[in-house]
Amino acid sequence: MALLVLKFGGTSVADIDRIRNVAAHVKREVDAGHAVAVVVSAMAGHTNQLVALVEQAWGYKERKNNGQDPEGQSAHYDEREYDAVVSSGEQVTSGLLALVLQSLGLKARSWQGWQIPLHTDSAHRKARITGLDVAELKERMKGGEVAVVAGFQGIAPGNRISTLGRGGSDTSAVALAAALSADRCDIYTDVDGVYTTDPRIVPKAHRLDRISYEEMLEMASQGAKVLQTRSVELAMQRGVRVLVRSSFDPPDLRGRSTDDALSLGTLVCHEDEIVEQNVVSGIAYARDEAKVTLLKIADKPGVAAQVFGPLAAANINVDMIVQNVSEDGKYTDLTFTVQAADLDRTLEVLRKAKDKIGYFDLRGSTDIAKVSAIGVGMRSHAGVAAQMFSALAEKGINIEAISTSEIKISVLIDAAYAELAVRTLHSLFGLDSR
Ligand code: ASP
Ligand code: MG
Repeated sequence: MALLVLKFGGTSVADIDRIRNVAAHVKREVDAGHAVAVVVSAMAGHTNQLVALVEQAWGYKERKNNGQDPEGQSAHYDEREYDAVVSSGEQVTSGLLALVLQSLGLKARSWQGWQIPLHTDSAHRKARITGLDVAELKERMKGGEVAVVAGFQGIAPGNRISTLGRGGSDTSAVALAAALSADRCDIYTDVDGVYTTDPRIVPKAHRLDRISYEEMLEMASQGAKVLQTRSVELAMQRGVRVLVRSSFDPPDLRGRSTDDALSLGTLVCHEDEIVEQNVVSGIAYARDEAKVTLLKIADKPGVAAQVFGPLAAANINVDMIVQNVSEDGKYTDLTFTVQAADLDRTLEVLRKAKDKIGYFDLRGSTDIAKVSAIGVGMRSHAGVAAQMFSALAEKGINIEAISTSEIKISVLIDAAYAELAVRTLHSLFGLDSR
């Protein structure tokens, strides 16, 4: 008997038929003799609707549009009430799944965050989990009762409902798996695993059998939006083995046994568990960054601090940074990237600081893409960057900025070449064939 945590996302519980399908997956594991906890998201689109209702109730956008609050003084509403409303989507699906399981003759009970309890800090709307008390839950699971847990929510100091940030049910599931010392945390989603790259761009992309936590973190933050980043960090810290698999696989697994689960998805695990390792495991790309260039700033100590200080103070994250070599020793250009959603604010902050920084011109553009090669094998292989740059050069793709980590090389290029770059690198690193 194993102890399993199964997590189902919004598309997997989008209506009652899909919830029945989820129940069939759960029943298969229970029938195989496993102790099972299920974590559910809200029905697809439901959380967005709830967020929209919160915003309507607060009415800030209307006030701003009507000129009643030009300074945006009232932009911030009470996030405890946001959490009270937005957490409710998961309450609905947990109750519905428990009912469907009961209708199939299984023992099942729903659990809200506060009932477990799953404690968080008081950073409402993006709270961090501080602890879980699973003694009772575990007892019942061992007695054959399925625990159906509402994802995304917890309880903050002061007995207030909190939520874990968008996509937070993944983190609920991993935290629960860690607390229960589960054998595995199965994340059922609408794709059957993690691919070497986006199959819509490269039809030859294939599913990875295994990927290390570190690589997955890079893939997640690079735009392969399968798992909430925080859930991967937590899985890595706590050594939780996470299997990404599809809820659209037939629940009877076409005659395969539940012991074959690992062949049906991608296991996110410690790199020691990965026997055959490519130098590069995957190619990620992101189109949600923007490029900012400051032309002709003074080439002297302290200038970079004057640029990035105010951005940090405005809570704007900067990703890649390049500073040109100065030709005359006096002036240089500085280019960096931010999230596209932060571009307007970034330009505003820099315009305000113009006198202090002293630049000739300021430019912003969203016509860029970031393409990255990721692989733990890079730690022990030299020359990956050189190979990558010459392959891109051969295709006439200009590199505007570069950033690297121990297991990743990212380049910033013109958005028009994003797909070509992804395809080129995918075959360059031998990921096409298999
Ligand atoms: N329902 C929440 C959201 O849409 C949490 C989740 O799905 O993981 O962000
Ligand atoms: Mg998700």
